[in-house]
Amino acid sequence: MNSFDYRRATSAAQATAWLREDPDAKLLAGGQSLLAAIKLRLAAPSLLIDLQGMPELQAIREDGQGVWIGAMCTHASAAASPLVRKRLPMIARLAQGIADQQVRNRGTMGGSLANADPAACWAAGVLAMGGVICTDRREIAADDYFCGLFTTALEPDELLMGVRFAPADQAHYLKFEQPASRFAMVGVAVARQGASVRVGLTGLGHGTNRWPEAEQALAREFAPKSLSAIQLDVELATGDLHASAQYRAHLAGVLARRAVAQAMTLNGT
Ligand SMILES: Cc1cc2nc3c(=O)[nH]c(=O)nc-3n(C[C@H](O)[C@H](O)[C@H](O)COP(=O)(O)OP(=O)(O)OC[C@H]3O[C@@H](n4cnc5c(N)ncnc54)[C@H](O)[C@@H]3O)c2cc1C
Repeated sequence: MNSFDYRRATSAAQATAWLREDPDAKLLAGGQSLLAAIKLRLAAPSLLIDLQGMPELQAIREDGQGVWIGAMCTHASAAASPLVRKRLPMIARLAQGIADQQVRNRGTMGGSLANADPAACWAAGVLAMGGVICTDRREIAADDYFCGLFTTALEPDELLMGVRFAPADQAHYLKFEQPASRFAMVGVAVARQGASVRVGLTGLGHGTNRWPEAEQALAREFAPKSLSAIQLDVELATGDLHASAQYRAHLAGVLARRAVAQAMTLNGT
């Protein structure tokens, strides 16, 4: 690894000031992606700004605006939170299905959303739930946040503080795992809130996206059969050593139907 400086921030103002001082500085959450990138020399930050010293980023709470999950909540803490399990059960299950226990204990929701890996689980869940991504300076709708492969609407000096979720009436996330990492070869999150249905796709290769045709069909009737005539455009998927584009597009349909079936039986709880 290249050498770098290390500082631990105690406030959002301090973290962002340090980011502005040094354009080669990077925020450090759990290090689950960033440290690997540094070891592979894909990243060479001059300074790591650790966010572990900011307890407000680890909060999970409910207020009049919905359920708040702080950026530094680990996958394990989100999965174990009684509030998340009760009010956002799809999110709790999604977090519990990420990687292995070690990664879940260190990896964070904020790090995952900032990294925007095209096979990440949180992205599909946040998109389907219509989460609001809150930073140190603004609120970004999930639809405006994900901008493609490893790309988000965050500015280089912007700190993701947390995400606000409105609980869904029915929701479920399913992924077909890449067996070594448990990243999604394809993942589909489905959420119904009243008459509105949102479907978030991950793992297809181009980043996280919604699936409008499936959403419209499910808004007419929220049942697996509504998707029987719908196929994902193969152009929306890419192939790699794990799966072809055709296989991924097919999986998206299979997983979407199964996710709807399970959402109906789970009834949001
Ligand atoms: C073996 C393995 C298996 C995995 N399997 C899965 C899986 O099945 N599903 C899945 O979804 N993910 C998976 N992951 C990813 C994991 O979930 C982590 O969440 C992800 O790697 C991000 O890690 P982190 O939270 O430690 O962030 P870091 O690695 O510390 O940071 C990642 C990036 O986000 C930036 N960042 C961090 N926090 C903030 C913030 N608050 N504001 C702005 N920028 C920020 C950092 O500067 C950095 O660029 C896996 C990872 C590993 C190593």
